[in-house]
Amino acid sequence: MASSLSSTSEKRKTPSSDNVNGNQPKKNHWSAALSAAIDDESVQVYKDDLCTVINDKFPKACIHLLVMPNENIANLKSVNNTHVSLLKHMLKVGKETAEKVAAKANARGSFAHFRYGYHAIPSMALLHMHVISQDFISDSLKTKKHWNSFTSDYFLDASQVIDDLQANGFIRVDTVRMRKLLDNELTCHRCSNNFTTMPKLKQHLLMHIS
Ligand code: AMP
Ligand code: ZN
Repeated sequence: MASSLSSTSEKRKTPSSDNVNGNQPKKNHWSAALSAAIDDESVQVYKDDLCTVINDKFPKACIHLLVMPNENIANLKSVNNTHVSLLKHMLKVGKETAEKVAAKANARGSFAHFRYGYHAIPSMALLHMHVISQDFISDSLKTKKHWNSFTSDYFLDASQVIDDLQANGFIRVDTVRMRKLLDNELTCHRCSNNFTTMPKLKQHLLMHIS
């Protein structure tokens, strides 16, 4: 069972079967929080007719945005070949918004280098594409699961998702394999060195930005 989530802190969220199956959670359930952002101008970084961009509330890097469709699509299990152009648009908007945010922040190097993708098993309902700078300097990046969710194959590259959708008409996720990836050892995404603890890995990451 998923625990409740307070408004100011992020507790470990186990993806519920509701989310994995593409069903909708109850309106006030923590996993429905992203839906509220679609209608809340105060948290929006960008919005157009098709999608909305917000800052991740618990950013795992200096710049961490979420791009969501305005249409109510629960997750990748709910997308089909009619959504290809929407996912392409979300990727284009994600790239353009990342560039603008990085330029405004005068970001350089890994702070201005981004990856775009989806978690294989999301915790939050409403489809969302992560836009994340590759510094991973953040107090909210705390656990091995956080790290591996952004640096292993658990992070599904947005371009690959679009290619798979075009080729097959659907996205299938091997949930057993994906869950195992979250327990991978801690490997630096830049130099492949291994670390025994998150504090050691985070200390090491500082070396890559100097
Ligand atoms: P995931 O469902 O694993 O792809 O990731 C969900 C993301 O949503 C995480 O990066 C959280 O930090 C983020 N998040 C959780 N609650 C909120 C919220 N209320 N507003 C914005 N981002 C959130
Ligand atoms: Zn390294």
